[in-house]
Amino acid sequence: MEFERDFTMTIGGLGVAGATTFPVVNPATEAVIAQAPDCSRGQLDEAVAAARAAFPAWRARPVDERRQYLHAISARLFENLDGLKRLLTLEQGKPFGDAEFEVGGAGMFVQGTATLTIPETVNEDSAERRSITRHVPIGVVGAISPWNFPVILAFFKVGPALLAGNTVILKPSPFTPLTTLKIGELLRDVLPPGVLNIVSGGDQLGPWITEHPGIDKVSFTGSTATGKRVMQSAAGNLKRVTLELGGNDAAIVLPDVDVNKVAPDLFWAAFRNNGQICIASKRMYIHKDVYEPLKEAIVDYAKTVKVGDGSEQGTQIGPVQNQQQYRRVLELIEDSKQSGHKFLLGGDALEGPGYFVPVTILDNPPEESRIVREEQFGPILPLLKVDSVEEAVARANASDYGLGGSVWSADPDKALAIGEQLETGTVWINETQHLTPLAPFGGHKQSGVGTENGVDGLLEYTNVQTVVVRKA
Ligand code: NAD
Repeated sequence: MEFERDFTMTIGGLGVAGATTFPVVNPATEAVIAQAPDCSRGQLDEAVAAARAAFPAWRARPVDERRQYLHAISARLFENLDGLKRLLTLEQGKPFGDAEFEVGGAGMFVQGTATLTIPETVNEDSAERRSITRHVPIGVVGAISPWNFPVILAFFKVGPALLAGNTVILKPSPFTPLTTLKIGELLRDVLPPGVLNIVSGGDQLGPWITEHPGIDKVSFTGSTATGKRVMQSAAGNLKRVTLELGGNDAAIVLPDVDVNKVAPDLFWAAFRNNGQICIASKRMYIHKDVYEPLKEAIVDYAKTVKVGDGSEQGTQIGPVQNQQQYRRVLELIEDSKQSGHKFLLGGDALEGPGYFVPVTILDNPPEESRIVREEQFGPILPLLKVDSVEEAVARANASDYGLGGSVWSADPDKALAIGEQLETGTVWINETQHLTPLAPFGGHKQSGVGTENGVDGLLEYTNVQTVVVRKA
């Protein structure tokens, strides 16, 4: 598929140009690759009106019909996998293989969501009365997505919201709007008009959505700081909120691991998608008995990994996605330099153009350092030496974040007993980041409110309704 350079929003099933436009940059070259529509307040009102108008008929359709629509969405994504993957690499920076995995993953998640069933509970069925509790759609959902996985994270929201009978207004990040806009265009003849509206814009558009009285729920994925603003703003009309926020996941490595076997897995747990994953391992607590050999094995493996333009053959890690995040990552590296932390690898920005930072690994910086306490969301990893498993668990849990965590051991049962002590929404043993459309995913503490995926995630797009019938 060839992509033309004019991208439009989807409002009421039609392609709509922005009142103005804003530039979108390829992070590997810093070249402007397209102009994206900048949605005006009036256009957002039109999108809300279209979604509200489409809601009664959409909710009235039998759920099995809506399932078929989800399968049609998934099919359209797979049919256009190649073009969408190329566009995603161009705007996001990730290598083609990762971009294909993301777009295909979105298709797979929508398919999986289509198999879920909304439960109904019979509370009483007696001679006098029948009482059931069912789950009804909420109305219009505002879905707001970040720049690290613009496509799959959008469909974590769109699939369940539509299946449950809601209509949607989706807003991608201004750093990565293009693939989402293109998908909107590809779905215009798949869904009834108004069921899925896609708008793009600058920093003002998110707040307009969260405060809009015509939107009934906000499903947000992004940083914890923004999540707090979303929750405050949503209070205006008591919107329901699902917040998938930041993380500072710990990986705990026991002394019985096979060093050479786990080193590549641990490396990718931290550096996949250039470390720009909410559930990347961002602190690695390694038992002292295995610290030195594992440190060397991770660094040796890291030296074999190719950083470069995601559209070039053989690239395994692309650039940091945008200039703001690039500066933040360099600032954290500078802080570690100023603090005298020992660098095992990396530490200096690569020559431009492009927001390239080399894989950077730190040797046992203090627990209170910024690189340990803060979410780095980039290619820097602190390796941390611990004297005991108890110490590792205590340090892992001493965080305001509670998204995910992992334990690595030759003995999965032993690792599980340790993993169960983690105060996080997901615990993985001997792997990380495995998500499915069938299992709920969400954060404890300041990593979020509510969940996505699985039946629990689906129910976040519903209101509970108890219906009581008195029998004659
Ligand atoms: P961000 O919070 O800056 O932006 C996320 C989205 O919110 C963007 O679309 C942005 O335009 C919009 N936005 C910004 N300000 C807003 C406001 N006041 N009101 C409403 N919307 C607003 O996050 P980001 O930098 O795009 O993404 C990185 C962060 O997202 C990291 O902290 C990462 O951990 C987190 N994240 C979490 C998950 C998860 O599932 N828990 C998944 C991916 C990323």
